[in-house]
Amino acid sequence: MTEKEFIAAIPTAYRGVTFRSRLEAKYAKALDDLKIKWEYETKLFRLGTYRYLPDFWLPELHTFLEVKGPNVPGRHKTKRLAEMLYTSKDPFHSAKAALVVIGEADGTLTGVRESEEMRIARCRECQQYFIYDFTGSWGCRACHAHSGDHHIHGVYKSMPINGRLRRI
Ligand SMILES: [Zn+2]
Repeated sequence: MTEKEFIAAIPTAYRGVTFRSRLEAKYAKALDDLKIKWEYETKLFRLGTYRYLPDFWLPELHTFLEVKGPNVPGRHKTKRLAEMLYTSKDPFHSAKAALVVIGEADGTLTGVRESEEMRIARCRECQQYFIYDFTGSWGCRACHAHSGDHHIHGVYKSMPINGRLRRI
């Protein structure tokens, strides 16, 4: 895909949903490939004076995923959402609290805080792929299994938006 195509943000249909960009549709496909359930633009938040509709809600993983192509300005709304959701004492380190993740144009996942390093792994207990913060809790976000790193198999840094998952 050329840079020009990214900038144009071409609406793209996939599984009966019209996504705002090809990149978003690629993320939906990648989530399907990983058998991660997704909802597109279903949770509307009021953040002070403005509204924010994150791209994806992953109900099984309790995770919001905002896809950011180079044509998408500003990450402040995503950051605000995280600030709003990360309110309890140490939600950042709990696999049960909501997680907010940004999907980059190359498929890599980043967090909204500088210390966050997002990873994708598969859980040995429930076989589900999940996204987690490498600098926070490694617990499975689907079944909450957490036994050191024994419940994790395969660790990946980016979503398979252009084909296969690649190990770190
Ligand atoms: Zn699990």
